[in-house]
Amino acid sequence: MSATASTIDLHVHTNCSDGVLTPAAVVIRAAGNGVRVLAITDHDTTAGLDEARTAAAVHGVALVPGVEVSAQWSGGSLHVVGLFVDPACRELRDGLADIRDLRAARAEEMARRLAGEGLVDPWSAVAAEAGPAVPTRAHFARALVAQGMVPDMARAFRRYLGAGRPGHVRAEWPPMEQVVRLIHDAGGLAVLAHPFAYRLGSGRMARLLTAFRSAAGDGIEVVCGGGGPGAVDSARHFARRFELAASMGSDFHDPAAHWNDIGRLRPLPGDVTPVWAGRIE
Ligand code: MN
Ligand code: MN
Ligand code: MN
Repeated sequence: MSATASTIDLHVHTNCSDGVLTPAAVVIRAAGNGVRVLAITDHDTTAGLDEARTAAAVHGVALVPGVEVSAQWSGGSLHVVGLFVDPACRELRDGLADIRDLRAARAEEMARRLAGEGLVDPWSAVAAEAGPAVPTRAHFARALVAQGMVPDMARAFRRYLGAGRPGHVRAEWPPMEQVVRLIHDAGGLAVLAHPFAYRLGSGRMARLLTAFRSAAGDGIEVVCGGGGPGAVDSARHFARRFELAASMGSDFHDPAAHWNDIGRLRPLPGDVTPVWAGRIE
């Protein structure tokens, strides 16, 4: 099938991780927004891909099997999106299961700490938000909002869940190099997600991209949901300087966040290599 960049969204969440829509509902929303190529990239799980694939076939959407994997680099955490992964790959399945165990252990500790901050019955509160998914910080944020402890998710992170706040628990994610290897084992391409979310200075950003390139990382998100034209231009420079392919994705989680809908993305600049080149016509 053929697709222009404006009909591509390669970073989207479902309720199999911290999104609010089912995989089928995400596909239907994507189709309604004119998206022709969609990657489902849930945190540390490929559980939504079967349902998404079935819906995609019905709604004329090409589904790229993906995953967003938590990783550690230089004492901080970051996210690597795997695209075109084979969810049946044994190494990937085991690696993701290990990371979900880390996430579940972190959630238990977060629940303990947030109980001390006044969150009532934290484990049921977060389970009500997460359903069958492994609880993430976004689920805790929604629970804090639901109990009226903060007015919105942004303040939940600022007051309770961000680094240095009382509900923050550091997770020992696998090293970035290992995560890239896991994605490659599954036949996928490893893409550094939302490069400006880590708030690195220019020196550390250059070190990260050098390390990502030496780890055989394939691409970087050049067009991200909610990012301005300045961010696209900076990421475009990184893609060129570090010889990384360019991806684009909204990081959609929730239709209520209408400023960050599926497929509502700025165009990919013309002087970078799309990460889907050779895989999607
Ligand atoms: Mn998320
Ligand atoms: Mn992310
Ligand atoms: Mn994401």
